[in-house]
Amino acid sequence: MSRVEGGCYCGAVRYEANGECSNTMVCHCQSCRRVAAAPVVAWVTFPGSGFRFTKGRPKEFKSSAQVVRTFCPECGTPLTYRHDSSADAIDIATCSLDEPERFPPTHHSWLAHDLRWVKFGDGLPTFQESRPQP
Ligand SMILES: [Zn+2]
Ligand SMILES: [Zn+2]
Repeated sequence: MSRVEGGCYCGAVRYEANGECSNTMVCHCQSCRRVAAAPVVAWVTFPGSGFRFTKGRPKEFKSSAQVVRTFCPECGTPLTYRHDSSADAIDIATCSLDEPERFPPTHHSWLAHDLRWVKFGDGLPTFQESRPQP
């Protein structure tokens, strides 16, 4: 059981998540890339029931039919991702955590969308799409 806190760059939006972190990865998909305007985005997954915003109110938008993302309306930091098919899970942008060092990624997903100039030398497993469920 862990408890983590984080928020956006400007401090207007803060959150906490309680529970077991079930996944930590780096996503190379096109929608993460465009939403964050960054080559890749690292994510950690927590139980949705243990997550709450503790300060401010993020803006929500649908990045695809089944996906709702949030970001800070003041400074734009991407914060969370929820998919309809995993109702009790929330992905949190790892680098919005106060202590991102606690959650190193275990793999890379969606290499199928990768930019050719993105080169990681970390030796972690890579997957063309999402990592298959065990
Ligand atoms: Zn902000
Ligand atoms: Zn992605």
